[in-house]
Amino acid sequence: MANKNFFIKTYGCQMNVNDSEKMAGILIREGYISVEDEKNADIVIVNTCSVREKAKEKLFSFLGKLNAIKKKREMKIVVTGCVSQLLKDEIRKRAPYVDIILGTNSYFKIKEAIQKQNYSDFQFYKQWIEIPFEPILRRNNFSAYVSIMEGCDSFCTYCVVPFSRGREKFRPSSSILKEIRFLEEQGFKEVQLLGQNVDSYRDPETGMDLASLLEKVAKTSSIPWIRFLTSHPVKFSIRIAEVMARYNQVLNSIHLPFQAGSNKILKLMNRGYTIEQYLKIIKKIKEIVPSIAISTDIIVGFPGETDEDFERTVEVLKEVEFENMFSFKYSPRPGTKAYYFEDDVPDKVKTERLIYLQNLQKDIQLKNNLKKIGKILRALTETVNKKNSDETVGRIESGRIVNIKGGKVGEFYDVLIEDAGPHNLKGSIWEGGFE
Ligand code: SF4
Repeated sequence: MANKNFFIKTYGCQMNVNDSEKMAGILIREGYISVEDEKNADIVIVNTCSVREKAKEKLFSFLGKLNAIKKKREMKIVVTGCVSQLLKDEIRKRAPYVDIILGTNSYFKIKEAIQKQNYSDFQFYKQWIEIPFEPILRRNNFSAYVSIMEGCDSFCTYCVVPFSRGREKFRPSSSILKEIRFLEEQGFKEVQLLGQNVDSYRDPETGMDLASLLEKVAKTSSIPWIRFLTSHPVKFSIRIAEVMARYNQVLNSIHLPFQAGSNKILKLMNRGYTIEQYLKIIKKIKEIVPSIAISTDIIVGFPGETDEDFERTVEVLKEVEFENMFSFKYSPRPGTKAYYFEDDVPDKVKTERLIYLQNLQKDIQLKNNLKKIGKILRALTETVNKKNSDETVGRIESGRIVNIKGGKVGEFYDVLIEDAGPHNLKGSIWEGGFE
């Protein structure tokens, strides 16, 4: 193919975003040119997500659009990510015009895939495959994703990740630290250590765990903000909270999904803990880091969830007062164990439960955010406000969004919080001193 313009469309989580950044880096190093949309691309790579049914259907609708373009001019379509790993036959059947289907562990073979005819690779690698991090095309020049592990061994009964991403593979800490050193030299201000289950982390060379890795990053780098995502209550070590308390760079923010408040449902989900154990962890974290911001994930309407079970979820929400909540209606995913459970909660009830939780969480967030008015909080700005170009939009340590009068993108500001809603704060840059 003479022309080398490519566009990557990414669905799903931060891990997918990071894989797309890596693929873009590999292609740019080979002389390919990244373009802003599919209309100007000779090669379109679709990096897919299959965690929810909706994401899959969005993919097929996007592929339909690409086919309409492809009928008019030459275009190579590559599908990679979780849907391609799990549903290659469905893609072949429903979208026969797709040129290449590539599995989740093979994203680093994107150049070979594009250059060869009928290339496919769906194998899972048992060990971490290190690719050069220098060319990665980051989404900006101040906040970077750094992968530390991939895959999951937890096998929650509703989740496709162990099948779409394979078993856990850990990246040597020596490579992680090298990448962070490189980012530091480039002037990055924030790194987010990524993995499906970061608390499982074990350095394959030294056996170092996540708490020690965080400590090492904090001690050896001058990156001001360090985050990590996603945690699991069973694997979570309380030493992580101790590291947060000891090092300012390790932000006091954690995403710890509890999914359901009923022990019966947690067991059916194969989450591996009781709600009492979960609450005990939260209590300990709050004792060690009183200012901790905890966010969570919840699934409503899991098979067998009664009103009573749902009430337990509501109680947990009220008790913990999470900083943020990501809630979803259960939908059966083919290939998982729960797919064979009777999906017996009517969709109407799932919707009612979801709305109830979201309204409750909105009230909790508003109450917590109002307490921030009058405080001066550090924020890292990420964009210019699309609705008001005189404002920048940043995040404070907890991850809460703050709209700031003035400022430049990619900078730290101390912000005087002047107003608050349930989802964001408003403030202006504080230029006075601290008493
Ligand atoms: S811990 Fe459970 S929900 Fe999270 S990725 Fe693994 S299997 Fe999926």
